[in-house]
Amino acid sequence: MALKPVSAHLEDVLGMVAPLEALDVPLLEAHGCLLAGDITSERDLPVFDNSSMDGYAVRLDDVASASEAQPVTLPVVGDIAAGTPPAYRIQPGFTARIMTGAVVPPGADAVVPVEWTDGGVASVTITRAPVLGAHVRRRGEDVRSGDVVLTTGTTVGPTQLGVLAAIGRARVHIRPRPRVVVLSTGSELVEPGQSIGPGQISDSNSFMLTAAARDAGATAFRVGIVPDDPRRLMTAIEDQLIRADLVLTTGGVSVGAYDVVKEVLSRLGTVHFEKVAMQPGMPQGFGTVGPDDTPIITLPGNPVSAYVSFEVFVRPAIRTMIGVESVHRPTVRAECQQGFSSPAGRRQYMRGWLSVSEGRYVVRPVGGPGSHLLGALAGANALIVVGEDVQDVPLGSTVTVMVLDRRSL
Ligand code: AMP
Ligand code: MG
Repeated sequence: MALKPVSAHLEDVLGMVAPLEALDVPLLEAHGCLLAGDITSERDLPVFDNSSMDGYAVRLDDVASASEAQPVTLPVVGDIAAGTPPAYRIQPGFTARIMTGAVVPPGADAVVPVEWTDGGVASVTITRAPVLGAHVRRRGEDVRSGDVVLTTGTTVGPTQLGVLAAIGRARVHIRPRPRVVVLSTGSELVEPGQSIGPGQISDSNSFMLTAAARDAGATAFRVGIVPDDPRRLMTAIEDQLIRADLVLTTGGVSVGAYDVVKEVLSRLGTVHFEKVAMQPGMPQGFGTVGPDDTPIITLPGNPVSAYVSFEVFVRPAIRTMIGVESVHRPTVRAECQQGFSSPAGRRQYMRGWLSVSEGRYVVRPVGGPGSHLLGALAGANALIVVGEDVQDVPLGSTVTVMVLDRRSL
């Protein structure tokens, strides 16, 4: 049977997911999420004219001639602290002590920093003249009431939270993080930290994929290990549906006798199992389960296959559910520093190390093609994508590289 092209499978997977409904959440819960609407400020920032220094609120006319040689001395009529606006005007010939962030009183048109004075309390001697508006932060000079401060689709990071709080928003409309539950299937699996008996291995996939889902922007729950037992698998999936926008499983999707995921989910009729023209990651399944038609993606068990399949299909699906525009990893063209061969008729995702050398991208394969080579995977920062029709990637050729970790470049 002909293998299904990667592009067709990706299209099918993305076709079953859609951006999640927007949600109103308290500010800090919006961290890392996408805004579901434009944010318009209902106030000016700064909210009022205020002092940017500790000093004295003055009328320019009174101090225009002040210098070291000819200081000006003014009586101080009071103190203006942040949070307590003054109930008076500054009259000609007078000043008031003012603190950073305090309301600049009417009548004053500049602030003289305390450093330019003798710091007097009853009266103050000023040795330097400010210019008009000096050390006054003007109302609305940053944001004006009615301004759109953040637009739909913006990711809410620390600084965006800052401005939202500053304009007085307590809640914000965002695209929620998809909730992804991750199950590993396999009767050979035990928890890391537990000793392994004959034939047993530690479950690595569910940790890797839970973290990968979080990196993609999801709230991910690691369910852990489910043995190759049809009833227990079905129960485990059903138990999770309550908190899942997407279910991820690994293992049990090939043609082995105990490939339970395929056996159990095929019967539902809503999950499809296919062979995709890729290496690693040929056996793939996807569909929906449960009363709410929750999307499920069943990844192969070999750790490298599971991870690469996540990158190629699941990450774009999660990104689609988040509602971002660019769902795919960035790719670059790089010079391949070591030749390798690639299977005919399959798109190969070879693990690689991408770096910049003399201003150009260069990449070298890491480890071999084996889909069990988890140690090598952990030493890669990129996937070299080799076309279906290419069987030989010669040294020095230019290849397409999917960048997994920009920070390592
Ligand atoms: P399967 O697809 O279930 O036949 O698994 C393929 C290979 O991947 C087998 O060697 C499994 O032992 C291994 N494998 C499956 N699931 C995991 C897992 N969660 N962690 C590590 N290795 C796994
Ligand atoms: Mg298995």
